[in-house]
Amino acid sequence: MSSQAGVIVAMDWGGSWARTSVVNHAGELMWTTRVPTPQGTGSENMLRVGEEALLQAISWCQSTPILGIGIAVAGPIDVESGIFYTPPNLLELNGISLIEAWQDRLIYPIHIGNDATLAALAEYHLGAGLCQRKVGRDVKTLLYLTISTGVGGGVIDRGNILLGAHGMAAEIGHIKIDTSSSADLCNCGGRGCLEALVSGTAIARKTVNALSNRSETTILKDIDITRLSSQDVFTAYSAGDSLSERIINEVISDLARGISDLIHSFNPDLVVLGGGVTVGLSTTNLLGNLKSQISDSLMSERHKDFEIMYAQLGDSSGMIGASLMVQSSLQDI
Ligand SMILES: [Zn+2]
Repeated sequence: MSSQAGVIVAMDWGGSWARTSVVNHAGELMWTTRVPTPQGTGSENMLRVGEEALLQAISWCQSTPILGIGIAVAGPIDVESGIFYTPPNLLELNGISLIEAWQDRLIYPIHIGNDATLAALAEYHLGAGLCQRKVGRDVKTLLYLTISTGVGGGVIDRGNILLGAHGMAAEIGHIKIDTSSSADLCNCGGRGCLEALVSGTAIARKTVNALSNRSETTILKDIDITRLSSQDVFTAYSAGDSLSERIINEVISDLARGISDLIHSFNPDLVVLGGGVTVGLSTTNLLGNLKSQISDSLMSERHKDFEIMYAQLGDSSGMIGASLMVQSSLQDI
């Protein structure tokens, strides 16, 4: 990407934390900090806290030239206007434009994108995509899924984000998997979305429901259900717990169905999985099982010609992707 001297101030603003960093041209984080997202304190205070974190990063740079500010946010956002559209995890910012709120005071050009889309961009250039290129495998199209509290993702085609008309393409958590009228409710207000079936929240909810409805023996019986997490279910799965096996098998099957729909739509040659639930898949060695279920439902040998691997950049991927977005905007000039 850009070889221009200077650094980028990047932020990843999610429901729990606003993480801010200074990133160099190689995507390395030179300085980083995080503050809790002050949920419930009103939009004005939310904006003030975010702005202070960015000013702190700008001040750290001293005389080093700043090429721009890149912000990755949780939720649907119009990338041109910077306006949020009912972001489930930052609801107080609904209808607000971060560009309008901050541009005058922060001076440097501000670029905004969806956090999962920007994580996909980072994985393409500097994470999983780079790993593939290092072993001589070209990556043209990358499909990224992050599966944690919710499900998000992005598609990168030949190095560029697939944006859509308003920058909101690839809301892959909300593709419909279960179309029955009794399908699980989703945060978006719909039913049967991928997010409602395979997210960490969904796995915990399915398990709590099963525990209250069934009398079968399970090692999860004694667990405090108010604190039950998807990781507890994966741990019980590893121990051979039959209830957890049933739930995780259902999750793998729904996830495979979702990914095969996405492969038919985008024809990726690399599928990358990130997020907390992915850690569970890794510790239980379920990636091979998932890949074979996906392949079984694909229509052609060419669609089946893809690799699947875990994300490589961890929690930093949103900020690294935000910095790459700023660099790519400079190349467009
Ligand atoms: Zn949904």
